[in-house]
Amino acid sequence: MLYDNHGRPITYLRLSVTDRCNLRCVYCMPAHGIDVMPKDEILSFEEMERLLHLVCAMGITKVRITGGEPFVRRDLIKFLWRIHHLPKELHITTNGLWSAQYVPELKAMGIKGVNLSLDTLDRERFQRITRRNELHKVMQTFYALLNAEIPIKLNAVVMNGMNDVDIVPLAELTKDYPIDVRFIEEMPFNGEGISEPVLIWDYKKILSVLNSHYPDLQKLDDAPHSTSMEYKIPGYKGTVGVIAAFSRTFCGTCNRIRVTASGMLKTCLYDDGVLNIKTLMRSGASDNDLQTALLEAFNNRPKNGFEAETRRQNFAPVSESMSTIGG
Ligand code: SAM
Ligand code: SF4
Repeated sequence: MLYDNHGRPITYLRLSVTDRCNLRCVYCMPAHGIDVMPKDEILSFEEMERLLHLVCAMGITKVRITGGEPFVRRDLIKFLWRIHHLPKELHITTNGLWSAQYVPELKAMGIKGVNLSLDTLDRERFQRITRRNELHKVMQTFYALLNAEIPIKLNAVVMNGMNDVDIVPLAELTKDYPIDVRFIEEMPFNGEGISEPVLIWDYKKILSVLNSHYPDLQKLDDAPHSTSMEYKIPGYKGTVGVIAAFSRTFCGTCNRIRVTASGMLKTCLYDDGVLNIKTLMRSGASDNDLQTALLEAFNNRPKNGFEAETRRQNFAPVSESMSTIGG
């Protein structure tokens, strides 16, 4: 088992396979998108496969494929078929736009779960948030995943005046469907930086809406290392969660690391990259060299997201797009 310098196990890697996306969510990037990296600056699938072999041998048991939008990367499915057996659990995060057609293959390769991003069930609000009119395609993916019985976590970022009215309608999905609907605090990873001086929809305010609409909301035990505080509405099939992503209440049990599409290791979401894996690989590093560099980074992990921010170069505040990180 891998441990960091604070005694936390490291078992979970989120690997971003592209910084490109087919949506333009307001909380993630400006309307014109982001300056995407040249393709040769992105890790090749061969480099990613090598990395996965290495980290799974070191103790990573869960891998999440993310992006940008992972399904915009050509031949993603071929890549998934090559690596699906490496971790114990393979998961994927997608906006669902182009994913419905691949659901049977995801099922066949034994994918453990899909996180589907959906901030509203209302077509106009969907267009305002994602700047695209494609809600119907996300819903196709939603129903395809349900039919295939692939576990779904539905992620909604709560934004003031944008989709706060969607908290209850989204929670109501758990009445008929055995899914986990999670409400996430908005973070300043939007390509521009903090938009409001104070976060209005923090986890307490989200919870207060749920509690007042569902007075008998039940608290569930949270899974170990989970970032989500989980609840159940009695009689409903699914569960509801709240993720304090900006308040950072969960750092003490954080078991995750990230590798961006350009091959930068992040040992905390809020750091600005602590090891350039791509440069190491492309300069001929052996597996042993890579392993040593990774272990050194794990041994120098900030204890929480606030400390990670103080370690950023020139103390630059967080403003990069989540599309370059993977969420
Ligand atoms: N494109 C895919 C998707 O949207 O599911 C995968 C990548 S996306 C960056 C991963 C997750 O990050 C999504 O669930 C999205 O809602 C979340 N996210 C993006 N920007 C965010 C922000 N500023 N604050 C909180 N969550 C954010
Ligand atoms: Fe694309 Fe996901 Fe960012 Fe939305 S949240 S713009 S779908 S990467």
